[in-house]
Amino acid sequence: MKTLLTLAFLFLSTVSWAQHDCISQSEMQEIAQDFKQFRNLAGQNFCYDNSENSNLLASIMFMRKTAFSPDMKNSSDELFSGRFSSSWYKYFTERINDINIPRNCAKGVAAYVYGFGSTMYVCPMLLTANYTALDRASVFMHEARHMDGFRHITCRSGPRAGLSGACDNKISDEGSYAVTVETYAQIAKYAVDLHPALKAYSMSSAATYADETFETPVRVSKNPILLIMNQTGQFYSITLSGQPVIEPLGQSPSVGRIVMRAQHMILFPEDKTLPAKYVFSKNEGDIAQTAGDAILEYNAQSPQQKADLKDMFSGAQWNARVYTNKIKFACDPKSADTTDVALTQGELAGNILHLDGYKRESKTSYLMTTSGSVLEFGCTNNRAFVKPSNIQLNQKLKRAYKIANRTFAINFEGELLELNQGGLAKIQLPAEVGSIYEIAPQQTYNFLNE
Ligand SMILES: [Zn+2]
Repeated sequence: MKTLLTLAFLFLSTVSWAQHDCISQSEMQEIAQDFKQFRNLAGQNFCYDNSENSNLLASIMFMRKTAFSPDMKNSSDELFSGRFSSSWYKYFTERINDINIPRNCAKGVAAYVYGFGSTMYVCPMLLTANYTALDRASVFMHEARHMDGFRHITCRSGPRAGLSGACDNKISDEGSYAVTVETYAQIAKYAVDLHPALKAYSMSSAATYADETFETPVRVSKNPILLIMNQTGQFYSITLSGQPVIEPLGQSPSVGRIVMRAQHMILFPEDKTLPAKYVFSKNEGDIAQTAGDAILEYNAQSPQQKADLKDMFSGAQWNARVYTNKIKFACDPKSADTTDVALTQGELAGNILHLDGYKRESKTSYLMTTSGSVLEFGCTNNRAFVKPSNIQLNQKLKRAYKIANRTFAINFEGELLELNQGGLAKIQLPAEVGSIYEIAPQQTYNFLNE
């Protein structure tokens, strides 16, 4: 019997890797020796053209060429042990010498290997311009680790609970998801000459996989912060452990709403002629990247259509797109089907309030309507629902997040509030911050500062 070892349910998506250059003749010669499928390209330059083969080759080149600091110290937590930090390409080619692109991959499956042979199967999804060479390199290393006999388990708890083959027991077992976390963490901290936005993206990916793919929680030293974007797009952070410290960060490329996708932030600009995209808070710049299929669809729409989308919730196994009159749910992680549920007659969608925090394992969240009532929505047992909640708030909120056991909110006057027993209390901020447009939960990672 074949043993299928899949990297299922990759939450990530996207990136059009800036592929302006070519692979040299001598590089192609070597790659063709390691992977016979490229032998017809041996001895010639290969110029990237965004085809599947091109994206495959870009990932191979990423493994061959990404340079790291010579002195890579382990983290004091479990993000980076350096166990897989020596030559990625050598490790990979010692296990894989054939890459096949099957046409019948299930939803969410990025790549897989069998428990024998030296072929890796890479699903077309992973080879679109939606992923970076960086993501693919991490996936390839993950798959190579399966060749050493490491298999996944079905998660009993956490964001991936019940998904077969979507977890490892613990990171110290050094299985495939440990490789995923380690490769992203290594890129985030030690890659040399890599675009700062890609490094920031990589850090969020390392943290997300650490959070979501292990039965035994991974020890990650981090501190929660409340991120604020003001009316001019300036980001500020407020520390939430110890005495609160407010600090200016970078400038957002435009003013807009932020939707969390695991540890990543997606910006939906107020100017509906602009595309939604990943955003970083410290002037890291952009990755030319679509943050998933829903964003791809959104970006192809007219400004009028875009304005109909009010908000979005991205859970680990489900997602919901909130439109003016309805919510579109994708409840089944194994199916591309969606279900529309209309809002109660007369109610119009406002914004999602993360009153229980933004938790990827949560099956429900809250929506404030334009009338100020709070609805609960979500997927239970793969069934979509929208219903009235028993939560009553004495003012209309534009956003709310529970972070580190405190619940912060902003209203339409741009004030920062905290929800206490007594109701909503205003938090005084320095005058320079001015009116607040959006807030989001973020973390600082000790590993990056060690
Ligand atoms: Zn796997």
